[in-house]
Amino acid sequence: MSSENDDYLDGNAAAGELSKIFAIDVTSAEGQCAHCGAIKRFAEARVYMRGPGVVARCAACEQVLLRLVSVRQRVFLDVRGMTYLCLDTSQLQQSSG
Ligand SMILES: [Zn+2]
Repeated sequence: MSSENDDYLDGNAAAGELSKIFAIDVTSAEGQCAHCGAIKRFAEARVYMRGPGVVARCAACEQVLLRLVSVRQRVFLDVRGMTYLCLDTSQLQQSSG
């Protein structure tokens, strides 16, 4: 019997789902939690994948950072739990040209 609280994975677990919509590896991106202000790499977030989608929670305050739900051909992305997400675009230069 595991409690709900320890049934999470780290942010890398969401890489597969997020790579369907982001050209950049989001797990290496740095984001700020809108609730507590913590600035962490997305890979450090707590990811819950038991529901119909993916929920990422702040490792510091456990508030929701990001929700991703796939419905047929559409993906709903809710990122209101993050003040910002800082992506490293240097990764994109490999595939251009
Ligand atoms: Zn937080």
